[in-house]
Amino acid sequence: MTLPVHVQEDLIAAAREVCAKAYAPYSKHRVGAAVLTQEGNIYQGCNVENAAYPLCVCGERNAIAKAISEEGPSMQLKAVAIINGEEKVCTPCGACRQVISEFGQSTQVIYMGAQGWTSVPIYTLLPGVFEFEPEVA
Ligand code: ZN
Repeated sequence: MTLPVHVQEDLIAAAREVCAKAYAPYSKHRVGAAVLTQEGNIYQGCNVENAAYPLCVCGERNAIAKAISEEGPSMQLKAVAIINGEEKVCTPCGACRQVISEFGQSTQVIYMGAQGWTSVPIYTLLPGVFEFEPEVA
């Protein structure tokens, strides 16, 4: 499923807007993300770094946390757009690929790839995603 161009453009614009708010004093690598939920809402998130580096949080996961906070645990993603401050190649990290998959394995991921803007379903970026399988009684 490919999203209409104007929807993709809206998401990229929302990601670009929030990218300017990133807290990235250490890496200087600002990232903005915008998620479109199945309910039709858009939520934005930027990366937030910390002096204790492992505590840094990516923009994608911040946007997803915001979406869950607003829509609740049944929230499902339709699309995610990601951009960095330089508007250069910026793909979601492995942790974010796993988290995006949790909320919709067909989520469309829009990012700046080596060949320009790219839009692909998350399952192509994270084949063999980890899934929790409850124990059989
Ligand atoms: Zn990430």
